[in-house]
Amino acid sequence: MQTLETTHPKLLELKTRLAEIHDIQAAASLLYWDQATYMPPGGAAARGRQLATLRQIAHEKFTDGEIGDLLNALEPYVADLPADSDDASLVRVTRRNYQRSINVPAAFMAKFSHCRSQCYQAWARARPANDFSLVRSHLERMLDFSREWANFFPGYDHIADPWIELADYGMKAVDIRTIFAELRQQLVPIVQAIAAQPPADDTCLRQHYPEADQIAFTHTLLSQLGYDLQRGRQDKTLHPFMTNFSIDDVRITTRIYEQELGQGLFSTIHEMGHALYEQGIAPELEGTPLAGGTSSGVHESQSRLWENLVGRSRSFWHYFYPQLQAAFPDQLNHVSLDTFYRAINKVARSLIRTDADEVTYNLHVMIRFDLELALLEGTLAVRDLPEAWNDRYTQDLGLTPSSDSEGVLQDVHWYTARIGGMFQSYTIGNLMGAQFFAAAIAAHPEIPQQIAQGQFHTLHDWLQTKIYRHGSKYTPAEILEQVTGQPLTTAPLMHHIRQKYGELYDLS
Ligand code: ZN
Repeated sequence: MQTLETTHPKLLELKTRLAEIHDIQAAASLLYWDQATYMPPGGAAARGRQLATLRQIAHEKFTDGEIGDLLNALEPYVADLPADSDDASLVRVTRRNYQRSINVPAAFMAKFSHCRSQCYQAWARARPANDFSLVRSHLERMLDFSREWANFFPGYDHIADPWIELADYGMKAVDIRTIFAELRQQLVPIVQAIAAQPPADDTCLRQHYPEADQIAFTHTLLSQLGYDLQRGRQDKTLHPFMTNFSIDDVRITTRIYEQELGQGLFSTIHEMGHALYEQGIAPELEGTPLAGGTSSGVHESQSRLWENLVGRSRSFWHYFYPQLQAAFPDQLNHVSLDTFYRAINKVARSLIRTDADEVTYNLHVMIRFDLELALLEGTLAVRDLPEAWNDRYTQDLGLTPSSDSEGVLQDVHWYTARIGGMFQSYTIGNLMGAQFFAAAIAAHPEIPQQIAQGQFHTLHDWLQTKIYRHGSKYTPAEILEQVTGQPLTTAPLMHHIRQKYGELYDLS
């Protein structure tokens, strides 16, 4: 492992301790990866225990008072360094994480953790039974715990702020509310206009696509797009995710449906976007808290940029569609590129977030964000949540869920983690992704033409230099400002949507 160039003995000691903690966390991540890919089902109980043990050890080591002493001892040293130096950044970011960890008593976290697993199990019964009442009391406890946790961080403007900050450092409920309201106002009429027109024909995607052939094709995609397969790998899973054990071992998982081609293609490109970010972090940050994406929103901006702005573009398929046809001649030889392009960009109102297209997706996110805030504020009771959910769907998407499974029970987030800060990162990621991509094209107008020729290095190098290599050194707001010269804004995403979907549908 490379180390930062430094001689301060306390810094070396801090880094040694942090590297140990990092190793324990990496071991836990590997156990989790194995659980989600290859572990036989019988291993579940022991694996759960092993994961809990490792996470507990990592937590104890990190919240040890000696970490606090080292940070204090290093303050005078880093005070003289530039804020964006590796050493000053390391102390600053470690301090932030440390403070957050020691604010919450271990006994509280143990009770919260128990509540989470109870709630998850109740949800796993309630969803197939299509019955919110089976999980309601558990969710009420989850809300109590979520509020109590927030209160370990007094001085917030909104009770959701500490949770939002955990995912998207530096952002607050009030700012997100404002920008989401602006986005919603622009999106709802576009969705209405598209819904009034005949739907795109996506039957070409719904044929039989054998799993092995899909895996082989996504593998080709990954290597051509710049994912380093010497420092990563791809495996199958039920719920796709990216994980990493070091900068040089960044893995993705893919979900394949044999009756639907889009799922495998786009979940692969999405997770690859997350992986490129992690693979691109500067080697000298390895083993420190700086060796990771800076926030959920910025991370999501990279997955969405590759999935939607690159992977669903006409130029991308101009290059790759002949290869896709060659891989699936029986299914696609009679389907034109234009038909395929329309199919992968079909806009349809739906009740399910994970099925949503680029245009409607953010409406699903905003519904959840607003409901989370209302629950935390106490202006919405858990017992009234299913009705509030259904009302918002009727209002924003013009569809009313006919059951709890299609409604409030569809996403696991609230039932397994917390209420607060769970969803905004998806839309922040879409907004930032469009902002970054617009800045990349402004700097290199040749990028779309290169994509049409299967060349991705200009874009990849630009992202690497501007975003990836910094890891967590900069906050989301800092990186956005540095790279795009702007704070978070809806303009680039709306410009993209108006232009792309204005060609596919009549939006006048
Ligand atoms: Zn993602």
